[in-house]
Amino acid sequence: MGEPLVIIGNGMAAARLAEELTTRVLGRYAIAVIGEEPRLAYNRVLLSSLLADEVTTAELELKSARWWRDRGVTLVYGCPAVAIETDIRRVRLANGATLPYAKLVLATGSRPIRLPVSGATLAGVLTFRDIADVENLRHTGAGRRAVVIGGGLLGLEAAHGLARAGAQVSLVHLMDRLMERQLDARAAAMLRAEVEARGVTVLTRAETAAIDGRGHVEAVALRDGRRLEADLVVFAIGIRPNVDLARTAGLAIDRGITVDDGLATSRAGIFAIGECAEHKGTCYGLIEPAYEQARILARRLAGENAHYTGSVLATNLKVSGVNVFSAGDFLGRAGAEEIVLTDPGLNVYKKLVIADDRLVGVVLFGDTIDGPWYLDLIRSGAPIAAIRHHLAFGRILAEATEPMAA
Ligand SMILES: Cc1cc2nc3c(=O)[nH]c(=O)nc-3n(C[C@H](O)[C@H](O)[C@H](O)COP(=O)(O)OP(=O)(O)OC[C@H]3O[C@@H](n4cnc5c(N)ncnc54)[C@H](O)[C@@H]3O)c2cc1C
Repeated sequence: MGEPLVIIGNGMAAARLAEELTTRVLGRYAIAVIGEEPRLAYNRVLLSSLLADEVTTAELELKSARWWRDRGVTLVYGCPAVAIETDIRRVRLANGATLPYAKLVLATGSRPIRLPVSGATLAGVLTFRDIADVENLRHTGAGRRAVVIGGGLLGLEAAHGLARAGAQVSLVHLMDRLMERQLDARAAAMLRAEVEARGVTVLTRAETAAIDGRGHVEAVALRDGRRLEADLVVFAIGIRPNVDLARTAGLAIDRGITVDDGLATSRAGIFAIGECAEHKGTCYGLIEPAYEQARILARRLAGENAHYTGSVLATNLKVSGVNVFSAGDFLGRAGAEEIVLTDPGLNVYKKLVIADDRLVGVVLFGDTIDGPWYLDLIRSGAPIAAIRHHLAFGRILAEATEPMAA
């Protein structure tokens, strides 16, 4: 019998950790995964496609029940962990059961934030985080009026999905441009035009003052006096790491659960990965860092000497027909140079930010095919002088003309 290893949370990071670990040292740990959601781990990234009716719920499943069984993983789902008894190394579940652990991994993800305005908990005011949320959102039906609050990735994908389902959608955003944390002004303006062409009304510099209704939402009141009639409101204003269990157990918390380069928390034998973890002051809200952390932790639990040093972020928007990619320091620091390529006829815009002869950031609109290649260049920090003249035209041309190494 292997050493008992308990993972709290049956999300994307947990599934990846189980996969990485069982590939490396099958049988070394007796793994148990505890999940609050009443289903097998699924691909949360595809929830937008589920809302837009582009995939089915079954297609979201990351691993089959058989996959988990074949690797000897005990799955407890539909039942949250409610306490960690660190002194005796035991996890307590909501149904009263307890599980001993030698090693414990917290992979509890995040919770969506609701604005602290009146009416925020009225019926019909929803969030967009899990399958249950999508099921609620899909009840909207054609012809109903939906207001999405938040013009980031999540808000745009929610607005698009609801519009595809036949709702009349308004997108309310506090800032002066959409996706301001991922896009420069030019790309954001192009994105706005595309989203509006898909039937979504976009309101920027719009601050929500209150949500009105008697029992059920009826309207969103904006600070400037405007009032948007609504049958449904979706909060997509951000997420907060889910640290409740860790806090009660006395682990060090800042915004997320504080971890070191070995993904270890402040308590011996307890680790944290994914959106609930905070590494060097950063809580990531994307899947790639969660997967990198899962891989590093699996290697360490398998006895290797691996370290997590942080992740370079890249964003891909999933609104069908709108290709947007952004990564790294796309706004550019002092002294950085920009290569800009734009084709209004094809609705293409590319901005590459270069500092010290290295690519440090990129924004792509319309043609995003080279996004992963640019991301590799940013991550590797490779000098780009030899390919600079072709850099903006993409990998194929740049590599075809790259001088051969002597
Ligand atoms: C609509 C949508 C679209 C997205 N699109 C993208 C994208 O395009 N690109 C990208 O990089 N990222 C995207 N993301 C973010 C991505 O899904 C997350 O970064 C990823 O899921 C994080 O994985 P995680 O395992 O840390 O958290 P999660 O996948 O959220 O898993 C955490 C799990 O832990 C469970 N849990 C919490 N507390 C307990 C408890 N006490 N006991 C038991 N279980 C518990 C939760 O119920 C949840 O199932 C998107 C997210 C959403 C919602």
